[in-house]
Amino acid sequence: MQALGELEILALWERGLERHPIDRALLLCAWARPELPPSRLPDLPLGAINRALLRLREACFGSRINAYVDCEHCGERMEICLDTGELLDGINENDIPAEFDLSNLRFRVPCSRDLATITSERDSKEAAVKLLEQCCLSPSDKINLKFSSLLDETETIMANLDPEADINLALTCEDCGETWRVDFNIGALLWDEVDVRARTLLAEVHSLACAYGWTEPEILALSPQRRSTYLDMVGI
Ligand SMILES: [Zn+2]
Repeated sequence: MQALGELEILALWERGLERHPIDRALLLCAWARPELPPSRLPDLPLGAINRALLRLREACFGSRINAYVDCEHCGERMEICLDTGELLDGINENDIPAEFDLSNLRFRVPCSRDLATITSERDSKEAAVKLLEQCCLSPSDKINLKFSSLLDETETIMANLDPEADINLALTCEDCGETWRVDFNIGALLWDEVDVRARTLLAEVHSLACAYGWTEPEILALSPQRRSTYLDMVGI
């Protein structure tokens, strides 16, 4: 896995800034999986996207992830420490959406293209039913209105077939003992880190351009050590 360089971070950030989080994850995935045509990425199982993003995160920012979560019961802020190596341990590498049968219907696990069709749906159950419709491979005349009764069963089967699609963590509050599960969204986390890095780089360019009159390409061509030394000299 090749890490993102400074120029690549700025280019990706610029392209993703106005995009939906699903598209941002696909943009990052395109860098992480250059052997795949970008047009294929929206059809990959969600777990394949998450695995690529975990590896990209490891290459760019290291394997250790520190995050903060507020307890659902007492509000106490907890620090959680994750390791991409542990999250990637023992995973499957399937790029083909797994299929399964239930109640005489055939389904496949969801992909990013399916998620994009339900982004405007505000009701979570309606969204889940629509997602199931997207993932149903049986002929339309076989589809009936029983999807809502199948939601729990299909959710369990999909989670087993594509476990990295939805990474969630079991947490226990050290203060009040509350236990709950929280979703871990590697796409959102990695985008936030790219966003912080890009804005830091632009702030450095701004400071040195103001102080010395250099252009952006000239400043970005400096080694990190030289740039940091000049920033010290101008008091940043
Ligand atoms: Zn608590």
